[in-house]
Amino acid sequence: MPMTRLCDLGLFDAETGKIPVIAGPCSAESERQCMETAKALSSLGIRTMRAGLWKPRTKPGSFEGVGETGLPWLAAVRRETGMAVMVETATPSHVEASLKAGMDALWIGARTVTNPFAMQELADALKGVDVPVFVKNPVTPDLKLWIGSLERLSNAGVKRLGAIHRGFSIYDCGMYRNHPQWVIPMELRREMPDLPLLCDPSHIGGRRDLVEPISRQAMDLGFDGLFVEVHVRPDDARSDSRQQITPADLGAMLNVLTPRTSSTEESLLLQLRAELDAIDDQLLDTLARRMEVSRRIGEYKRDNNVSVLQAERYGGIMARLVDMGVRAGMSERFMRSVVSAIHEESVNQQLDIINRDKQ
Ligand code: PEP
Ligand code: MN
Repeated sequence: MPMTRLCDLGLFDAETGKIPVIAGPCSAESERQCMETAKALSSLGIRTMRAGLWKPRTKPGSFEGVGETGLPWLAAVRRETGMAVMVETATPSHVEASLKAGMDALWIGARTVTNPFAMQELADALKGVDVPVFVKNPVTPDLKLWIGSLERLSNAGVKRLGAIHRGFSIYDCGMYRNHPQWVIPMELRREMPDLPLLCDPSHIGGRRDLVEPISRQAMDLGFDGLFVEVHVRPDDARSDSRQQITPADLGAMLNVLTPRTSSTEESLLLQLRAELDAIDDQLLDTLARRMEVSRRIGEYKRDNNVSVLQAERYGGIMARLVDMGVRAGMSERFMRSVVSAIHEESVNQQLDIINRDKQ
């Protein structure tokens, strides 16, 4: 049972009816900020604080973290509040310094997980060390790479493992900073059912107002808990300012979210339905993108006086998709009706463009 395994990590209270949460600033910025945040989180009943010390930034020149300077700040948090503290490690020297300073848990960031060489070096550095390690999904939507990273750590003897879903960097993320592609963490759950799985709504949403709806969706999908960026003064944060919420915001959110109920048949049904909803969202998004391309073709046809309907092209699309669909287990009749409905809408969208300009 995942809940049992989650408790085995030693980072959460066994209390039922509460969502397991790890929270804290994107970056540790000062001892005062760390302590203030920790005290506020502790009064919400949160037992583990996260804080980034070495920040992997997309562009040079952004705040790259305070590095080892922050380790004693977090050690002080641990001493004064009794909370467990957790940092991101990207290199063996980060691991060594963090363990020496008594960090209770580590996480490995999305950029590092993308690189098998870096992952192997980290796994080697963690050989024989009994510390909980959370592995974020790689930046790219590649489940095998995610599982491979977990396996490298497991092969090195790391027993207390967890995964964190933080969304994927894809060409068009829509309203998200990193597209959730919920199907991928759900596949991970199927492949490794005992692995604790947390959701990081902050990096998926990239915006304060998305933290709650994404967290809700994650709980509906059966995630074990949340990994949330919290800052005492989010507007002044030196990194990821737009997505950090205050401890009070987090408290309010946790009051309205309900944790996953036990794994009764009913909750399995709810989980599967939430999974269907997530896939439907993706389907809709994909259809909308197809129509967008179709409209661009409409503009081309209008500018070059090409007729909208070209029978041989339609015949080709139909044959290819029906064949693929049948091979994927769907009936020919269903495939024909889906392809014909999509094609009809595409033609209408193109006609709209052509006729609009004639008026
Ligand atoms: C973070 O958690 O602050 C972080 C850098 O996340 P990610 O690796 O998911 O980008
Ligand atoms: Mn961050």
